[in-house]
Amino acid sequence: MANKDYYEILGVSKSADADEIKSAYRRLAKKYHPDLNKTPEAAEKFKEINEAYEVLGDDKKRSNYDQYGSADGPQFGGQGGGFGDFFSGGQGFGGFSDIFSDIFSAFGGGEGRSSRVQQRGDDINVAMKLSFEEAVFGVEKILSFNRVESCHKCNGTGAKNGKEFTTCPECKGAGRVRYQQNTMFGTTIRESVCPKCNGTGKMIKERCEECNGKGYKKVPTEVHVKVPAGIDDGQTIRMKGEGNASTGHGISGDLNIKVSVASHKIFKRIGTDLLFDLYVPFTTCLLGGKVEIPLTKGTTTLDIKEGTQSGTVMRLKGKGVKVLNRESYGDLLVTIKSEPPKILSKKTKELLKEIDANLVENDFPKNKEFKNKMKGL
Ligand SMILES: [Zn+2]
Ligand SMILES: [Zn+2]
Repeated sequence: MANKDYYEILGVSKSADADEIKSAYRRLAKKYHPDLNKTPEAAEKFKEINEAYEVLGDDKKRSNYDQYGSADGPQFGGQGGGFGDFFSGGQGFGGFSDIFSDIFSAFGGGEGRSSRVQQRGDDINVAMKLSFEEAVFGVEKILSFNRVESCHKCNGTGAKNGKEFTTCPECKGAGRVRYQQNTMFGTTIRESVCPKCNGTGKMIKERCEECNGKGYKKVPTEVHVKVPAGIDDGQTIRMKGEGNASTGHGISGDLNIKVSVASHKIFKRIGTDLLFDLYVPFTTCLLGGKVEIPLTKGTTTLDIKEGTQSGTVMRLKGKGVKVLNRESYGDLLVTIKSEPPKILSKKTKELLKEIDANLVENDFPKNKEFKNKMKGL
């Protein structure tokens, strides 16, 4: 380390103050940074510049150097965190770039100079109303909404015709900037996305007129949605990548379609089962009979047996709603409800009294059981 003219390396005079040294260092570090400068001598030069700044950027080391022609004073070497540590072990740059790539991956970028800020586009949440039948059988719909899309005219670049670029002067196309900071604990390296080009490494020379240089636009769009048979109220259809385009260089967000299903006049839906109460004249329950009932498609005839109790549930297997994404169906459950007349005609009343007189206790086992329980109280 000794016997090098650090002032000459940084191109400053021996009387230069700290600010002059710092800005000279920054300018040169940028110029010879091995990621930005691919000439064979750049790496060696960069190392030299850092070595010089390690000494001249530090008051004590600088004074040692000025006094002894070497920075090897009592303080030197004992302090950690400087560039010297990064470079120890010969080639040096290996460890150095490893440290940088760790920082870059933390930013979500790739590696090397192609690294960019990855930013996922926002999701779009929309509501969709479906009729009962549309939910049961599935439907295809066109959804219209506005979303951010990459500008087709400039290929999302923001530059006229997608080509009117210059390399970013701030980061020289790397998309990020690094600078060294001297603190009382030593030298640290800070790294950030280039503020000038937002990490793209490019500057727009002439703006795309279509998107005014942004590379994206909010545009009305139509998306074809296949609503699957069996979808239920409150469920969400997620369409990957159909949301807003990324305003960085990431992937698009998703389109989330929350479904609300209208109720049916007769059916109540619980999952894939359909239910309803079927009110029949009390005589139908007594004598039996055939009743036409609705299905999801068309109708069918329900055969009510003689002596059917009110509250009996008749299960029609597979006549419910399709299970989502499966060739399987729920059931239709019909609860038979016996409906007696609220008002009786004189004639009906007479006939019923006659019937009642002919009935015996054993015709009503449940009523009999109840009476027996009452006796034991
Ligand atoms: Zn830049
Ligand atoms: Zn454009």
